[in-house]
Amino acid sequence: TMDVDFIKSHLKAHPDFPKKGIVFLDIFPLLRSPVAFETLITHFVYRLTSHTIAASPSKKIDVIVGLDARGFLLGPLIALRLGAAFVPVRKRGKLPGRCVSASYEKEYGTDIFEMQADAIQPGQTVVVVDDLIATGGSAKAAGELIAQQGGKTLEYLFVIELPFLKGAAKLNAPVYSIVQAD
Ligand code: IMP
Repeated sequence: TMDVDFIKSHLKAHPDFPKKGIVFLDIFPLLRSPVAFETLITHFVYRLTSHTIAASPSKKIDVIVGLDARGFLLGPLIALRLGAAFVPVRKRGKLPGRCVSASYEKEYGTDIFEMQADAIQPGQTVVVVDDLIATGGSAKAAGELIAQQGGKTLEYLFVIELPFLKGAAKLNAPVYSIVQAD
């Protein structure tokens, strides 16, 4: 539809970044255009209010979880619109206080994600947001942090999905992506 094409027209592909053979898809041109950024956030909020909330036992979304680092740029705006909490998932060692942790596979070895241990209450409904899903490893780790605290993940939201990597199949809730790239 019109807003999907408009959003898509503000994404930029960078061949050979961060290294040769990788095509990096950049969402920052979207954020440079106030109208495109507004369209993006409204698109996500419309998805959640018209569809996702119906799957919520409480008929509301309690928490938006944003993934380090570009999920931090989208999640708080969506959370404020919904009257939900925003909770960051960060790389190990960045968050103060007691944390829960989960590991995920990177290209070389494993990495660890953390969330503050009191960030989600048992039974709360949660939606995860990030810019892009590739293998799904980082989103899966976020889902584990939510489950460790008794939260219920309703959906994973991304601007971009790489369907050929089948990341969605790793996750414990549906994936919604605005743009599917090959
Ligand atoms: P995954 O864990 O393999 O699904 O990788 C997703 C993570 O890597 C997300 O946090 C993305 O921000 C980042 N990522 C991987 N490829 C790209 C890309 O082409 N553009 C932007 N972010 C990417």
